[in-house]
Amino acid sequence: MRHLLLILGDQLATDHPLLREHDPALDHALLIEAPGEATHVWSHPARIAVFIAAMRQFSAALAGTPWAQANTHVRLGDAHLAHLPGLIDRLRALIEGWRAQGEGPASLTVLEPGEWRLAQGLKALCTELNLPLRLIDDLHFLCSRAEFAQWARGKHQLRMEFFYRWMRQRTGVLMEPAGQGSGEGKGQPQPVGGAWNFDADNRQPFPKGGPGLELSAAPPARFEPDALTRQVLQEVRERFPDHPGGLDSFAWPVTRAQALHALHTFVSTRLAQFGPYQDAQWAGEPFGWHSLLSVALNLHLLDPREVIAAAEQAWRRGEVPLASAEGFIRQILGWREFIRGMYWLDMPGLAQANHLQAHNPLPAWFWTGDTDMACLRDAIGQTLQHGYAHHIQRLMVTGLYTLLAGTSPQQVADWYLAVYVDAIEWVELPNVAGMALYANGGRFTSKPYAASGAYIHRMSNHCQGCRYKPTERTGPRACPITTLYWAFLDRHESELAGNPRTALMVKHLSRMAPAEREAVREAARVHLAAQAPHLPPSDLS
Ligand code: FAD
Repeated sequence: MRHLLLILGDQLATDHPLLREHDPALDHALLIEAPGEATHVWSHPARIAVFIAAMRQFSAALAGTPWAQANTHVRLGDAHLAHLPGLIDRLRALIEGWRAQGEGPASLTVLEPGEWRLAQGLKALCTELNLPLRLIDDLHFLCSRAEFAQWARGKHQLRMEFFYRWMRQRTGVLMEPAGQGSGEGKGQPQPVGGAWNFDADNRQPFPKGGPGLELSAAPPARFEPDALTRQVLQEVRERFPDHPGGLDSFAWPVTRAQALHALHTFVSTRLAQFGPYQDAQWAGEPFGWHSLLSVALNLHLLDPREVIAAAEQAWRRGEVPLASAEGFIRQILGWREFIRGMYWLDMPGLAQANHLQAHNPLPAWFWTGDTDMACLRDAIGQTLQHGYAHHIQRLMVTGLYTLLAGTSPQQVADWYLAVYVDAIEWVELPNVAGMALYANGGRFTSKPYAASGAYIHRMSNHCQGCRYKPTERTGPRACPITTLYWAFLDRHESELAGNPRTALMVKHLSRMAPAEREAVREAARVHLAAQAPHLPPSDLS
């Protein structure tokens, strides 16, 4: 065997670059399902199933190609590797097996993995086996790791907005040619519509009566599992019976055809409303107007370029407002690429970052949704049902609570990595540590995303049916988020006072009488002491 081509479970593009550029007569493709990847964190069954089903669908599609006879697919339960749950251990055993038969590979070839841990494991294994490792650039992304590092070099502040503008200029997305713009920068290509973003038109709550019939008439594409996927669901149920979350609502795209259908449905029926309501929440509406495309993107069933192009073309055809198309494109061309660049720039330190010295345990109800706080119950409940919550729930409900409660960033990151179907460390960790928890001290955000229950009240209807009142910070009806918000300001007063973007928040704190301040501290202490800590099973690897 010349090159052993390891196809990772989150790199399942139909036109896989390693297969395209290698020769099935000389090289061999390998897919490995590893139970250890499902227990590394206490993974939601839907997250496990998404990866396994997509891998098996990918393999099934290889049957009709020249790779049909030149690939090996190791299943979760393959008997000869049952004693080796870990991916690296399985890979070692396979390579040693081939070597023993005189068919050992001359190299291991892999697209850059999405996890630092796996990249390190592969390097260590190849050193141990004295096997050359060829790590190939992952061209799925529009900005390579080297280009991002170059962009970041020497910059005092790393801000997504500036990266995004640079990406717009490099790619020409939503730009108009020189000469058509006006004012500053005339002669250079200009952002269409005369502005880089239209946030002022976006970020609205739903109308008072809720999202209405319009939303129910335009549901996101959901996919009835076919026989192959149903078999995976059954296997996951049997193998991981104690894992948090259910499979009954499983309807995620796991093939290229499904992913394309999901993209088309979103652009033609939902994108127009995405912009205004991207920050809105409503009880019992798990998806809002969001795209639900992160899974297909992160498995590489969709290429970000085609997703961006579809949104831009819909605007150019006059089918969706510019504010919606731009708002959506910014998430992918801006945030997704930026977050990935930051991950590789800041690992491995990012995984240990704890700027705010937060050491409280994650409450056990994060794994059950069993809490009286209506917003958290809703966000965690739908997470356990679907393996999905939209961005603002992740940032400003579960993320907000864990920030204010001083929860250990490592425990929070493990939870996010476990429970979302789209969770892969390159995208999960910077969002958790950097965006939600300020654990990296504002390396790419200008302030902690701290807010009181009043924010949730403004952006959702959760507070209406909740036993807690967002306006009250102490007393039996005090909203724990409001209590914890004031206690957070109190705890970090000097740091927040020194930041122009949070100075006003702590100014309000300074107006509080000392007795009231002490009462807030005590209420926060009592609330936190009442939370049973989270305890995933001790036998997780
Ligand atoms: P939409 O709202 O429809 O957005 C469109 C696309 O933009 C998404 O599919 C996604 O690919 C991209 N996108 C939007 N925001 C971000 C962002 N902040 N970072 C990277 N890409 C973004 N996203 C993941 O894919 N995996 C994760 O594990 C993950 N963990 C997160 C944890 C926290 C604490 C936070 C605040 C955000 C996290 N995100 C993660 C980003 C974002 O919340 C999800 O991408 C989004 O909710 C997925 O739903 P959607 O496809 O309907 O997104």
